[in-house]
Amino acid sequence: MLIVMKFGGTSVGSAKRIAQAAQLAADTAAKGHQVVVVTSAMSKVTDGLIAAARQASTGQWDPRQRQDLFDRHKAVADALVAGNDTRHGELLDILRQRLDRFEKLCYGLSMVHELTPRLLDAISGMGEMLAAPLVAAAIAARGRPSTAVDATELIVTTDQFGGAEPLMDQTRAKTAARLKPAIARGEIPVVTGFIGATADGVTTTLGRGGSDYSASIVGAALDADEVWIWTDVDGVMTANPAEVSEARTLSDISYSEASELAYYGAKVLHYKTILPAFRRRIPVRILNSFNPAHPGTRVSVDGDPSASGVKAVTSIRGVILVAINGTGMQGIPGIVAKAFDVVAEQQANVLMISQASSENNICFVLSAAEAPRVAAALRSALEVELMRGNIDEITAEQQVAIVAAIGDRMRGTPGIAATVFGALGREGINVIAISQGSSERNISLVVTEDDATAAVRAIHRAFRLEQV
Ligand code: ADP
Ligand code: ASP
Ligand code: MG
Repeated sequence: MLIVMKFGGTSVGSAKRIAQAAQLAADTAAKGHQVVVVTSAMSKVTDGLIAAARQASTGQWDPRQRQDLFDRHKAVADALVAGNDTRHGELLDILRQRLDRFEKLCYGLSMVHELTPRLLDAISGMGEMLAAPLVAAAIAARGRPSTAVDATELIVTTDQFGGAEPLMDQTRAKTAARLKPAIARGEIPVVTGFIGATADGVTTTLGRGGSDYSASIVGAALDADEVWIWTDVDGVMTANPAEVSEARTLSDISYSEASELAYYGAKVLHYKTILPAFRRRIPVRILNSFNPAHPGTRVSVDGDPSASGVKAVTSIRGVILVAINGTGMQGIPGIVAKAFDVVAEQQANVLMISQASSENNICFVLSAAEAPRVAAALRSALEVELMRGNIDEITAEQQVAIVAAIGDRMRGTPGIAATVFGALGREGINVIAISQGSSERNISLVVTEDDATAAVRAIHRAFRLEQV
């Protein structure tokens, strides 16, 4: 089998973790499989790069930031490769070269005091470019030939910096041409997650947490047999285990359940991960690099056909409720259409929409970054309605959370909504808005951020998701 393995930040967070990741890749190859690795940056490195870029753009560039990054990665090189090995010197040269570029870019930012999305991508994507050579060295130290490959040479994307989309035809051609000969020779290529490049070669990123997406893109481009996402928990669970201690691993879920879960806040998978694999029907597994014996979660077309009702509960925090309120909205045609037009024009990513049946209120949930811009555009597009009093106000202040109950077989199972609302009612949690997708795979509701954890726990308990 050809297996694409992605290691997340904590799975390559130290020399010990990188050695373990390399061992997992080498062991899989020893079983006769072909392996391609996709790696994230070491944990917290991307956050640090972004913070450094932002700070530099305010005029403050502190060269110690470069030194800290060098020290952290050099410590790994020291632990993985003996100092007198020529590969040790080569690794340090690569780290130095990449950090030179980082320093130059940050120095430039500190001069011009401006950080464009394009420059932010060039800087934030460097963590993967520092990690991949170390992972490749660790694999080579285990006797498997391995080379680091920058995904800028493989994944061709649009120029939406900060959230670029792959152009799959070009990506397939480049990835196959670059990686297939190496795979055929028995090598394990180590590809940088998170980044790609436009057709002109300008570095882009696929969005925070995007290395999962990279793995699925590379898997689809190579027609891999499976994509394995190695992370720090035992697979996709009934809820975030950091929030619900009794959460349990789901052994089998469908592509649609995985997408829905990821979209509604299960950070374990980047929300776009599933689509490239799904299009080629490539099974995806989510596995724990800290507990590799655990079978984890398998994502496939059918999921678990015997399961019923709600399978998992997720939440998205830090989002904003944009509400259009007004008793005079009843029966006035076109307000909803105008509102949707505005949202579309602003290219905002609407996480949820709800309209009260009395027509007194329409609300959207948007990210905190987009909400102010959309609210301002709505106020201007609906100026006449506001003036006439059809609309009383357009607000965008409330910081809320979306809580979602998810499962393919919620469809046609009566009483699910009653159980959800009964559970929240017993806890005294006020539901601000509700939405059920017509696919019936999801009921999502808006609560205050303070109530989110209690709401997730109450729904988890009400459906006894802790029980197998
Ligand atoms: P990686 O660095 O491997 O990409 P992430 O931190 O991005 O890892 O994702 C793994 C984390 O996702 C887990 O540690 C867990 O806290 C969180 N998480 C949120 N929801 C879920 C869920 N439903 N199942 C499993 N993990 C979840
Ligand atoms: N390193 C990137 C991030 O922190 C991508 C990833 O880890 O998936 O967002
Ligand atoms: Mg992740």
